[in-house]
Amino acid sequence: MNSKNERIAARKLELKLPGRVQSDMDNRFRASLDNLRLSFLPERVIRVQSPEEVGVVLKLAHTYAIPVTTRGAGSSATGSAVPVKGGWVLDLADLKRMEINRVARMATVGAGVVTAELQAAVEALGLFFPPDPSSKKYSTIGGNVACNAGGMRCVKYGVTRDYVLGLEGYLANGKAFTFGLPLKKYVSGLNLRDLLIGSEGTLGVITTIHLKLIPKPAKRWTGMFAFKSEAAALRAVVGLFKAGVSPSILEFLDRQSVDCAERYTGKVIFEGQPGSSILLIELDGRVDEVREQRQRLLECMEGRAAAQREARTEAQAEKLWQVRRTCSQSMFSIADTKLNEDVVVPLEKQAELIRYTIALKKEIGLATPTFGHAGDGNLHVHIMYNRASKSDAKKAKAGIKKLMQKVVDLGGVITGEHGIGLAKIPFMGMQHSKAEIAAMRAVKDALDPQGILNPGKIFEYFEIWDHELVDVKLPWDHR
Ligand SMILES: Cc1cc2nc3c(=O)[nH]c(=O)nc-3n(C[C@H](O)[C@H](O)[C@H](O)COP(=O)(O)OP(=O)(O)OC[C@H]3O[C@@H](n4cnc5c(N)ncnc54)[C@H](O)[C@@H]3O)c2cc1C
Repeated sequence: MNSKNERIAARKLELKLPGRVQSDMDNRFRASLDNLRLSFLPERVIRVQSPEEVGVVLKLAHTYAIPVTTRGAGSSATGSAVPVKGGWVLDLADLKRMEINRVARMATVGAGVVTAELQAAVEALGLFFPPDPSSKKYSTIGGNVACNAGGMRCVKYGVTRDYVLGLEGYLANGKAFTFGLPLKKYVSGLNLRDLLIGSEGTLGVITTIHLKLIPKPAKRWTGMFAFKSEAAALRAVVGLFKAGVSPSILEFLDRQSVDCAERYTGKVIFEGQPGSSILLIELDGRVDEVREQRQRLLECMEGRAAAQREARTEAQAEKLWQVRRTCSQSMFSIADTKLNEDVVVPLEKQAELIRYTIALKKEIGLATPTFGHAGDGNLHVHIMYNRASKSDAKKAKAGIKKLMQKVVDLGGVITGEHGIGLAKIPFMGMQHSKAEIAAMRAVKDALDPQGILNPGKIFEYFEIWDHELVDVKLPWDHR
C-alpha cells in the first residue's frame, strides 16, 4: 500500500463521511486483532452508519488501492478479521436494521446485528433462527454469513448457509449487489449468494441479509450419558442415528476434557464414574415428538451408557450444559494457550480420530482434550501448550500439522466452522489440489482484481508461529 495515497484517500473520506474515520490508537488496536490474538495495526478504522456508506468507502479504496478488512465483532478464531496488510478496517457493527416478517417467516437484518439479539427477537414472536455459534452473544450476522458459522444445533438444523435467502452489499469496486431476495425460491442467474457465504470478506462486503426462519420448537429435553471409553460413546452416536433418533444437539466430551473439568472443580460429574467420556443430548420438537424420541433414545442407550442423568427442569438442563462450558474453561489449568481446531470427519471415523488424538498426546507430550459436535463429525481438537515455552510451541506446531494430515486421510476437512483466515493457510495444500486453489483464485481475481478485500487471507503464505500472540482480554474471555 502506498502511504501517500492512503492519506489522500482518508482526507477525501473524511470530507464525504465526516465523523466516521477513526485514527486514534485505541480504535486501531481494537480493530487490529480477533480471537486468534495476532495484532496488525490498520491505518484507520471506518465505522459506517448505513449500507450506502460502505459503497462510498469501497469506491475510494478501489481508486487508491487500499486494503479493506471488513469487521463484525472480531470473534473469528482464525485471524480472518485481522488487517494483516494494514489499510482500513471497515467496521459494520452499527448496521442494526432488523425487520421480522412473522407471516412469511423471514427476517431482514443489517450485518451488524448480534446473533443472540436476532434469536431473542424472533423467539419472542414464536419463531426460531437455529444457527448458534458459541460466540452468539457477541458475533454478528454479517460475520456468521461471511464464515458460514455453525454451532451445536447443526446436527438437526444445518449451518448459517441453510437460512440465507439473499444478500445485499458492495463489490470491491464500490458497486452495489443483490444476490438473492427475501423469497423462498430463486434460481435466476449464477448463484453468487452462496459463493459469498463463507468467503471471509474476500469477495465482497455484505451489508444486509435476508434470512429464513422456522417455527420455534414447543419442547426441549436434555440428557447426559457417561461411557467407559470414547469408542463406546462414539459407537452410541452411530447407534442412535440407526435407531431413528434425531437429536437437536449431540455433544461429545472425551476423557481428557472431563478429567480437566473434574480436577478443576474438584467434583466428579457422574458419581462412581470418574473421568468418563460423555454425550450431552438435546431433543426438541412437538411435545409428543419429544416423548417418542426420548423413549427411542433411552432404549438405544440401555446397555451402552454406564450412567445417565435427565434434566427435569430448565435449571437442571442449564446445569448439564454448564458441564460442557466447564470443560472448555478448565483446559487453561493445564496450559495457558489453546489451539482450538474444528476438524470434521465422517461419522463412523470419529472413533479413529479420537484414537489418533490420544496417540498424538503421547507422541508430542502435550494434552489434546477434544469435544464437539459428534452428530456432525465436527470435533474441536485442542492442543494445550505454554506460550513462553519454545519447545512446547514447536511440539504444538508439529502436532497440528500431523492432525490435519490425519483428518484429510480419514476423508475429512481441516475446518468445519472457523474457516481458513490466517491460521489454516499452511494446510490449504493438504485439503485442495492445485487446480482447486487456482479456480478459487480465479474467482477472487474476477471479483476483486486489485486484491483489496481482506488481502493476505486464504491464499497467501502465512505462518502464525512466526508472530507473537498478544496478551489481551477479549469480551468473551471468562478466565
Ligand atoms: C468463544 C468463541 C466461540 C466460538 N464458537 C463458534 C461456534 O460454535 N461456531 C462457529 O462457527 N464459530 C465459532 N466461533 C468463531 C466466530 O465467532 C464466528 O466465525 C463468527 O461467525 C464471527 O462473527 P464476527 O461478527 O465476530 O465476525 P468477525 O470476526 O468480525 O469476522 C470474521 C470474518 O468475516 C468477515 N466479515 C465480517 N463481517 C462481514 C460482512 N458483513 N461482509 C463481509 N465479510 C465480513 C471478516 O472480514 C472476517 O474475515 C467462536 C469464536 C469464539 C471467540
